[in-house]
Amino acid sequence: MIRSVRSLTLLGATGSIGKSTLDVVARHPDRFRIHALTAHRNSERLISLCLRIAPRFAVVEGGDAAREVQRVFRAEGCRTEVLEGLQGLLQVATDPESDTVVAGIVGGAGLLPTLAAVQAGKRVLLANKEPLVMAGSLFMDAVRENGAELLPLDSEHNAVFQCLPGNFSRDGLTELGVRRILLTASGGPFRDLPVETLSAVTPDQACAHPNWSMGRKISVDSATMMNKGLELIEACRLFGLPGSRVEVVVHPQSVIHSMVEYVDGSVLAQLGNPDMRTPIAHALDYPARIESGVEPLDLFRVGRLDFQAADQDRFPCLRLAYEALAEGGGACIALNAANEVAVDAFLQGRLGFTDIAGLIADTVEGFGACPVSSVDDVLLADREARRLAGSLLDALVGGHA
Ligand code: NAD
Ligand code: MG
Repeated sequence: MIRSVRSLTLLGATGSIGKSTLDVVARHPDRFRIHALTAHRNSERLISLCLRIAPRFAVVEGGDAAREVQRVFRAEGCRTEVLEGLQGLLQVATDPESDTVVAGIVGGAGLLPTLAAVQAGKRVLLANKEPLVMAGSLFMDAVRENGAELLPLDSEHNAVFQCLPGNFSRDGLTELGVRRILLTASGGPFRDLPVETLSAVTPDQACAHPNWSMGRKISVDSATMMNKGLELIEACRLFGLPGSRVEVVVHPQSVIHSMVEYVDGSVLAQLGNPDMRTPIAHALDYPARIESGVEPLDLFRVGRLDFQAADQDRFPCLRLAYEALAEGGGACIALNAANEVAVDAFLQGRLGFTDIAGLIADTVEGFGACPVSSVDDVLLADREARRLAGSLLDALVGGHA
């Protein structure tokens, strides 16, 4: 069978997901062409990627960063066109010349470009989980209405996807005999640390994940287990199940990436080394399987697989996510916004590790109920929640720390 070459737009090309994606793509020059690469402020890395790959477009934040990229491209004779800011992101996310968009921006900043790609009916490979947490059913409705193809890159959701029949529909999992999704979690770097020592952990300790190498925000999320909380919400959105049918299972080896339990007692799991290139390769050419560069799984070296219940006292962020999911409306938006504010403050040394959950809880509570029925409502709620989290943070640690 002759397959057409896929033309890719990589949102967040300079990050960890971007790097893994480019690694897989480079192994298949006959299958993929890079149409556009985007970055935020890391113009140095964007420049070096563009000089090597020569995409049609590069997007960077406006102002000095864009001018610098343009200057280097002129000097080096690179013909990549430089676009700026949100307008640039929206342009490349919807460009008819590209059929596949990899959503690898971190945080709520990815919402509009990722949604634009969905509205343009693209094949969207979703790593950027925050937009789904924020926009929930609006996002999934847009997938259906515009004939987009949404393929999860998050390793857990990609695993669930692989354990479901190929023709599953989001509202039909119960008819397919699915009882529950078992979402695995490594437990992060602080799984076994005495709880009383958690308040003193540093950003570098939080970012030193035992099994995965990732960007700093998601690494902190893994350490607080808010990453699993966001993934719980992501799973409910993607697969149309309530929170009561998604269980978090701590599995320190990160070899089973998640499981699907069926009514007949079967539990299907997807296994592999903890390396994002596997889910990326799975989704890039789905349903075809392609080489990813990941080492084969050596079960004899793994030796054993352990499982524990998630400790919601040690990891209150997980409980907050279950509660926000049950509350619905703007609660998940407030949860995500407050988490971004809190993680940023922690990474800057302004907020202690164990104060992250408290700031999120206070923001969600103070934010209260708010109906969300449009993308404008989502953006407004996100802005308001960030403002509230920011002022609660200032009150806690002092405005000019
Ligand atoms: P990262 O910090 O390594 O990279 C983030 C990318 O987003 C960079 O290219 C950066 O330039 C861009 N970016 C940041 N802020 C931006 C803004 N305001 N506007 C436009 N672009 C912006 O992050 P990552 O670890 O690659 O994670 C990306 C997303 O994928 C996150 O949502 C994360 O939760 C998800 N994810 C990551 C992994 C992983 O292994 N890294 C696994 C599963 C899911
Ligand atoms: Mg994950």
